[in-house]
Amino acid sequence: MRTQLIAGNWKMNLDRAASFELATAIASRDSISGVDVVLCPPFVYLEAVRDAIRGSAVRMGAQDVYSEPNGAFTGEISTSMLLDTGCEWVILGHSERRHILGEDDRSINKKVHAALASGLTPILCVGELLEEREAGQTEVVVRSQLDGSLAGVNDRQIASIVIAYEPVWAIGTGKTATPGQAQEVHADLRKLLSSRYNRIVSQQVRILYGGSVKPSNAAELLTQPDIDGALVGGASLVASDFLEIVAAARTRTPASN
Ligand code: PEP
Repeated sequence: MRTQLIAGNWKMNLDRAASFELATAIASRDSISGVDVVLCPPFVYLEAVRDAIRGSAVRMGAQDVYSEPNGAFTGEISTSMLLDTGCEWVILGHSERRHILGEDDRSINKKVHAALASGLTPILCVGELLEEREAGQTEVVVRSQLDGSLAGVNDRQIASIVIAYEPVWAIGTGKTATPGQAQEVHADLRKLLSSRYNRIVSQQVRILYGGSVKPSNAAELLTQPDIDGALVGGASLVASDFLEIVAAARTRTPASN
C-alpha cells in the first residue's frame, strides 16, 4: 500500500518569521496522521522550519541540492549540509530549475545519485510544456525526462525515489490537469518503471501530481489510482489550504498492489 505524500514547495517566498509561523501552524495540527507531509522552504529558512516542526510528524526537504560533496562551487549547497540542517527530502528537476535556470537531465541525474548516496529522498519532477502537450508529445517528453534523470539508478534505489508529474502549463497558472489527464500520465510513468525495472517496484514508487493543486480540486486528483499525493506550490503557503489538501489525501482509498 502506498502512503500518500503531500509536499509543500514554498519556492522563493516568505521570510524567517513567516516560515516559522507557517510550519508551526501545519505541525501543530494532529490531522496529518496517515499521510507523509514534507515542507520545502528556501535554504536559508530550513533551520527555522526545523525548529517549528520538531517533535511533530512533519518532515523537511530542500528545493534543490548540488551534486558535488564539497569544494569550490560558489552559491551551492551539498547533501551533507542539507542533512546537517535536518532535511530528509530534496526536490530535484523542478520545472523552474529546468526552464528558468537551465538544468538538464544530465545534471539532474547527477543530483539524483548524490541524493541517493547521502540518504536524502529525491522528489524527482518531470513534466511537459503546453506546446509539447498540444503537439501530442507529452508521453515522449516525460518518458525521456524520466529515463535521463534516472540513468544508472538500480532496482533497489528506485523504490526510494518519489516522482512528481508536474505539467509545466499547470504550475502557478491556476490551470490544473484534469484528473483523467493526470491519471493517464501517471499510469504511463508507472508502465515505464515496470518495463525499466519490474512490476513490483513500479507499484511501490509514489508518483505525485503537481500543478495548481488546491483544496477545491485535491480530492478528485488524489482519488485517482496512480496518484499518490501532491507537490503543492501556491496553496502550501496558506496553512488552512495546505491542511485541507492533506485532509483530502487521508480520505483516499489506498491502491491495491
Ligand atoms: C510547484 O511549485 O511545484 C507547483 C506545483 O506550484 P503550484 O501548486 O503553485 O502550481
